[in-house]
Amino acid sequence: MITRRNLLAGLGAAALAPAIAAPALAKGKGAARVVVVGGGFGGATAAKYIKVRAPEINVTLIEPSPRFYTCPFSNLYLAGLRDFETIGHGYDELKKVYGVKVVRDFAQEVDPAAKTVKLKSGEKLSYDKLVLSPGIDFNWNGLQGYDEAASLLAPHSWKAGDQTRLLRKQLEALDDGGVFILVAPADPYRCPPGPYERAGLIASYLKAKKPKSKILILDSKDAFSKQGLFLAGWKQEYGDLIEWVPLSKDGKVVKVDAKSLTVETEFGTTHKAGVLNVIPPQKAGLIAERAGVTNKAGWVPIKPETFESQQVADIHVVGDATIAAPMPKSGFCANAQGKVAAAAIVASLQGRTTPNPSWVNTCYSLIGPEYGITVAGVYKVADGKIISVEGSGGVSPAAAAPDFRKREAIYANAWYQAITNDTWGTALRA
Ligand code: FAD
Repeated sequence: MITRRNLLAGLGAAALAPAIAAPALAKGKGAARVVVVGGGFGGATAAKYIKVRAPEINVTLIEPSPRFYTCPFSNLYLAGLRDFETIGHGYDELKKVYGVKVVRDFAQEVDPAAKTVKLKSGEKLSYDKLVLSPGIDFNWNGLQGYDEAASLLAPHSWKAGDQTRLLRKQLEALDDGGVFILVAPADPYRCPPGPYERAGLIASYLKAKKPKSKILILDSKDAFSKQGLFLAGWKQEYGDLIEWVPLSKDGKVVKVDAKSLTVETEFGTTHKAGVLNVIPPQKAGLIAERAGVTNKAGWVPIKPETFESQQVADIHVVGDATIAAPMPKSGFCANAQGKVAAAAIVASLQGRTTPNPSWVNTCYSLIGPEYGITVAGVYKVADGKIISVEGSGGVSPAAAAPDFRKREAIYANAWYQAITNDTWGTALRA
């Protein structure tokens, strides 16, 4: 069970230390240049916290969208419990309050020898240090029949935006008595509890509006994050509305036909959906591959103390694109890693030793709007690896009164306010 005491016991000094004003670097023309690619959880945090620690460094953030829509809380939107705009965040504070230069463009190439990033517009930016936080891309056709065109019929909604709106529209059009099929991927993937939170929240919508409908989760694995809590919560809140079919019970989908909304499993069972949500296999965002920092599996090996690439010097990679297990691919972790990379970059540019990092993560999931559960972890570096701190973290208790679950749902809302403000707003949290 998580208590404030055992959570804090696992936290190291670096995670708790306030942002310390650093000695001045060269200013103006001769100032160090950091380019950050990706204005999501990891990138926006890294850009902001470099400026907080060393305002004289020139920080340029490359992001194609004027507004970032978060995957966290997008499941509430799918369930009709939140307006889409409430999960959108702009870059005004980063620009005006912190002095980050935000360029609306897309990074296409990285030349690590020349230390330049080429943008879609043709512009080339030079850097002393580069941060990549591009999130994930999909292994199109890693699951037979599921490519970008198929995602327009059977959305993944695993990057928030048009795909999320499309899935919501389809759910609204689903007949009462129709089946919502969710195809869940094998590990590793963005947000381990995300598919199961989605199932629960969509169940709350179906129970209220289309009570004859069913949810079928076809899974490529036999175990998932907070499994016991999810299964018990679904049963309690929704009876038999949600059916989970694990790998060992022929849950692995091997073929998708998006036109007929059918899927085929490993052992030849066919399932037809009213709405089909396919979460496909994933890899690091393409620019990481282009920069030469990915491994054969498509993810980025990093040095844990700094989140600098193991393969290319002066390129730091944070967030979902990295191999940072046991840290999950979460927005909370991307934010925390962004701060560690920021501290390491500033220290390196100032000729100081990198601080010794530690991290904390809490993943809140909602089974219903007033039913929250959590998993928390604390991490540190030992023998060159990220490890979980013994005796810290844990999951919500299996037996808890409704009031406890309700409070966890309230904390989830507070967490969302805090993390989004820390990433795109004016809050400062070490
Ligand atoms: P992102 O936040 O995705 O940011 C990547 C950014 O990079 C994007 O803005 C993209 O436009 C930009 N980009 C990509 N390539 C380029 C390029 N070449 N040039 C310029 N820009 C580029 N996490 C939690 O902590 N808590 C939750 O409750 C939670 N719920 C979730 C629910 C769902 C349904 C899903 C799918 C995920 C959830 N997550 C949650 C996970 C969270 O969304 C991710 O872990 C987080 O977004 C990772 O941050 P990131 O910076 O790596 O990538």
